[in-house]
Amino acid sequence: MHVLVTGGAGYIGSHTVVTLIGAGHRVTVVDDLSNSSEESLRRVGELTGQPVAFHRLDVRDRRGLDEMFARAASSGHPVEAVIHFAGLKAVGESVVEPVRYYDVNVGSAVVLLAAMHDAGVRRIVFSSSATVYGDPVCVPIPEDAVVQPANPYGRTKAVIEGLLRDVAASGTGWQVSLLRYFNPVGAHPSGRIGEDPTGTPNNLLPFVAQVAVGRRREVAIFGDDYDTPDGTGVRDYIHVVDLALGHVAALDRPPAPGTPLVVNLGTGTGASVLEVIRTFSEVAGVPVPYRIAPRRPGDVAACYADVSVATEVLGWKAQRSLADACADTWRWQRSNPNGYR
Ligand code: NAD
Ligand code: UDP
Repeated sequence: MHVLVTGGAGYIGSHTVVTLIGAGHRVTVVDDLSNSSEESLRRVGELTGQPVAFHRLDVRDRRGLDEMFARAASSGHPVEAVIHFAGLKAVGESVVEPVRYYDVNVGSAVVLLAAMHDAGVRRIVFSSSATVYGDPVCVPIPEDAVVQPANPYGRTKAVIEGLLRDVAASGTGWQVSLLRYFNPVGAHPSGRIGEDPTGTPNNLLPFVAQVAVGRRREVAIFGDDYDTPDGTGVRDYIHVVDLALGHVAALDRPPAPGTPLVVNLGTGTGASVLEVIRTFSEVAGVPVPYRIAPRRPGDVAACYADVSVATEVLGWKAQRSLADACADTWRWQRSNPNGYR
């Protein structure tokens, strides 16, 4: 299948492109490189043995998208499905710049869907997030849990999910899969591609990796008085290669037109901040100093997925452990201490 991957130069996108090509799909990437570099795609080409077809484009650029769809069609390989990763994802930034978040995230989705409509492409897999559940009413979280995002980023995801539900219900043959990721971590086992955050990492694993490699002094653990077994926050850390495989499964098993398929992509089990630090330190064989800091505003105690829909409907299950993710992150971090720069 010819798959257009928006945001394909980014962290999850680049791993998914490797997996898609490995599964025999033809891939075209669209990315404006606002949070990534072309070097990731060069390395994807190295890993897959073929250069990646790439268009540097803002997804809100309707004319650029139309030209891309038209070129693919006239070359005899029309785009048949889209995986839509492109967007902004920093929760804190979204609180300060909500309009930019709605513009980029919701704006991109609107323009992309309009261009897909006119190009006759009716199959889309969308990167949603467990953040749409907000403070979850129960764990593990099933897909029918109430959607109540607690920040602008999460609300942009909920708005796009709503838009895609309406598109699916329009009776025009759309097949829509909404994938709600839990906490993507890890890197390709080659150590050639991985997560390359700019500035101070917001997420736990990249921060821990930068402490381990000596770029930062210690990890601040945001709270040790949560109602969890050791008092620190519990999350569902999903290896990015498993996540990439989840996208291939979603392409292989699209829903019938009419109702979107909503699927949690997680492991189904949670790990605490202390467990993550301990596991990383053991795997890397280096100490990871930490201190207890105040809670981070907006954080919840525990968040992990009910993965029964993914198993039953997609036939997909995460295979890689937290230790695997730490080992792969460490390999990536050690061999690329400054990321792609
Ligand atoms: P990323 O920032 O590494 O990748 C996003 C890519 O989209 C980047 O390469 C960026 O340059 C590109 N992009 C942004 N705006 C664009 C635009 N208007 N036009 C074209 N390209 C644009 O992020 P990621 O971690 O790979 O996340 C991918 C998707 O998964 C995002 O939609 C994100 O919200 C979602 N998600 C991520 C996480 C996570 O923790 N990483 C969790 C849940 C959901
Ligand atoms: N966390 C932490 N120190 C950090 C970054 C994160 O203690 O420097 C904690 C955070 O409070 C949460 C967990 O690690 O309990 C995962 O945080 P992350 O930001 O990676 O994911 P999210 O909170 O979005 O699930």
